[in-house]
Amino acid sequence: MFKLKNYINGELVEPASQQYIDNYDPSRGVVYSLIPDSDERDAELAITAAKEAFKTWSITPKDTRSKYLLKIASLIEEQLHELAVAESLDNGKPLHLAETVDIPRAAANFHFYGTGILHYAAQAHSVEDTAINYTLRQPVGVAGCISPWNLPLYLFSWKIAPALAAGCTVVAKPSEITPMTAYLLSEICVKAGLPKGVLNIVHGFGHKVGNAIVSHKDVPLISFTGGTKTGANIASIAAPMFKKLSLELGGKNPNIIFADCDYDKMLATTMQSSFANQGQICLCGSRIFIERSIYEKFKTDFVAKTQKLIVGAPMDSKTKIGAVVSKSHMEKILSYVELAKQEGGTVLCGGEPVNVSGEFENGYYLAPTIVEGLAFDCRTNQEEIFGPVVTIMPFDKEEEVMQYANSTQYGLASTVWTQDITKANRVAMNLHTGIVWINCWLLRDLRTPFGGVKSSGVGREGGFEALDFFTEPKNVCIKLK
Ligand code: NAD
Repeated sequence: MFKLKNYINGELVEPASQQYIDNYDPSRGVVYSLIPDSDERDAELAITAAKEAFKTWSITPKDTRSKYLLKIASLIEEQLHELAVAESLDNGKPLHLAETVDIPRAAANFHFYGTGILHYAAQAHSVEDTAINYTLRQPVGVAGCISPWNLPLYLFSWKIAPALAAGCTVVAKPSEITPMTAYLLSEICVKAGLPKGVLNIVHGFGHKVGNAIVSHKDVPLISFTGGTKTGANIASIAAPMFKKLSLELGGKNPNIIFADCDYDKMLATTMQSSFANQGQICLCGSRIFIERSIYEKFKTDFVAKTQKLIVGAPMDSKTKIGAVVSKSHMEKILSYVELAKQEGGTVLCGGEPVNVSGEFENGYYLAPTIVEGLAFDCRTNQEEIFGPVVTIMPFDKEEEVMQYANSTQYGLASTVWTQDITKANRVAMNLHTGIVWINCWLLRDLRTPFGGVKSSGVGREGGFEALDFFTEPKNVCIKLK
């Protein structure tokens, strides 16, 4: 069976333990490759290599760093199909989605920061003619980058690219549930001739090798995307060591639909924001609030469209909903459907596994699910499910829906549908989320600040915010007279 390798100091190597973890194909429910079960010994090797490489990478001209990033971007583009197939197989997502979203975005991340670093400038503050202050933006050191399984290469590269562009070296750990494209990225970096030790990729469990990276004294900054509980654990280790932290965590995003919206556009986009990637996107709008005058119409249309979504094998071009990422995740999602029923909800469609026949009969398929009749503050409406499950609720007044929308511990993203620009602006001002989409969803501009408030995270990724994170500002004051 194919064994993935760690990428340490420019080489593809086995883990110190010589132990491996099973890697599942969720579309078939079978083990199809083996992942290094790395531990603190592998983390130590990777951090030592990154520390050594930092001595030269941090002072390598940004034009040269840029060229490496652009080379990696073009190699990802050249291997787009191969990477998309690998992502789909590893994660269960429809191949079409990996081909049009995940992999192009991974290439775009390297391209964006490969060019972005060339435009990154620092401030200067003059004190009339007596003194001048200027800010140096210097790379911090070895960055620990840890990412989740839902958008594997997309989110992995979203951290690595700005870190490398800024002049940091990196020890990165992809999710042990979806490690394949990170492994393929290490092969790409070898092909691109990236100097040894600049990027190191170690595979394995979060509590083992992930924890070893987070707690290591020579890793002064951690960029983490994943669950809120894991983020809290990482913060508890990193904060007393005064590490710089960027935490992109869970969400329970509201989708607010006013009666004066462009109905057809709203409905088409709400299908996406509810069920894209099997609902496993941190930005999915899993709580849908609909103004009462259009509630019944919306309910009928939304349920009818959802029932037509084809659940099937990820590589099948007709498939709209692939497999969820693992058996345990499928069970977690189903347990929330049971909870919704116990809390008084009515399942309008879905709510059960789907049997995809033949070689896929043991895969982890779920029917897209809509629940109504729940209170805004019940557990189903407060906790992150992270699957193809949404709730729908009517509202009468704007103040009422604002209370519902802002009621969770999370504050990642929100979506608002209305043709009234004044109302849209007022609602956006009052939503407690880091991102507000008006009449759209997941319309990304990589220059914008990305991140959440409350339990959805600390700090922002994207644009120059990420370059600010991976560099330390140093003020230099010169007296002129
Ligand atoms: P997770 O927290 O279980 O794991 C994320 C990563 O952290 C994995 O690589 C894992 O191995 C590692 N990890 C686990 N324990 C660790 C520890 N003690 N020390 C160091 N590393 C550790 O999350 P997941 O299940 O992979 O991903 C789903 C979650 O990610 C959801 O909550 C989702 O909302 C969130 N997410 C957030 C964003 C965002 O931008 N805010 C984007 C995508 C996903």
